[in-house]
Amino acid sequence: MNSAYQYLFGPVPSRRLGRSLGIDVTPFKTCSFNCIFCQCGYTTRHVAERAEFVPFSDVCAELEEWLAEDGQADYITFAGSGEPTLYSQLGELIDFIKARTDIPVMVLSNGSLFQRLDVCDEAAKADIVKISLSVWDEESFQKINRPAAGLSFKTLRAGERNFRRRFNGQLWLEVFLMEGINAAQDQVEQIAAIATEIAPDKIHLNTAVRPPAEKEVAPVTEEKLRALCGLFTPCAEVIASFEVAPAAADGNLNTESLVGLICRHPATAEQLAAVSGAGIGAIRAALAPLIDEGQLQIEERNGESYYK
Ligand code: SF4
Repeated sequence: MNSAYQYLFGPVPSRRLGRSLGIDVTPFKTCSFNCIFCQCGYTTRHVAERAEFVPFSDVCAELEEWLAEDGQADYITFAGSGEPTLYSQLGELIDFIKARTDIPVMVLSNGSLFQRLDVCDEAAKADIVKISLSVWDEESFQKINRPAAGLSFKTLRAGERNFRRRFNGQLWLEVFLMEGINAAQDQVEQIAAIATEIAPDKIHLNTAVRPPAEKEVAPVTEEKLRALCGLFTPCAEVIASFEVAPAAADGNLNTESLVGLICRHPATAEQLAAVSGAGIGAIRAALAPLIDEGQLQIEERNGESYYK
């Protein structure tokens, strides 16, 4: 991976998806939500208006270069440090990718802009859209997602139903559960009822395994998550937030690429080793000076040390 890329990161290996090239079209950290569980930290640009946050032509140039030099990934995923549907050129960028490669495109979204039909139609150009849902009413929406002004639970719910009607691809739903916040049986039952209305093809249950924005956010045990799967239709599946596969990696240690990944995705040395193909010792040695300089931090979470 060319370390000069500003908008591309990875490819990140995942047991379920293989290798996924990330595209980040929202500068750190631009989002319509400021979720208490966000692994990117606090939202600094809290907006619900779309814009060309990064130059469309620059993103296209990086994609052209990556396709010419590497071009190997199982998915190209819009993700990273914010909400990708806020990018006003999202549809155009998916068209650009589709004209050049058969690699399937995935969009990870919080669903907040699907009240707008133009946003639905742009995101619907992707092969897979994964939306998140962790709330069941206005109060929980305000407490957990902390939306930008002008967004409400009512519009979120209507938008997600809108999108399902206009999207023929794979719609996945990720439900993020936190102990003591939204994981009580009656709360999960209410979330599951809303999930049924959205009618996704798959439902994933996730929890705060990696460091969240708010330290008091606690994970749900894997055992409890598994017990909750049957409340959903279709039956949910538990996912780990960073499933590392023994995927191909080139073994080259590129510190800038690692930092780019960590900034979007807190990770352990073991996970970074799997991404880069480098040894765990080499990863630790390369990142130690950045810890000393204060560019990166280490946070303990569930017995693991995460670079963030
Ligand atoms: S978790 Fe997603 S939707 Fe929530 S603040 Fe972070 S980037 Fe935005």
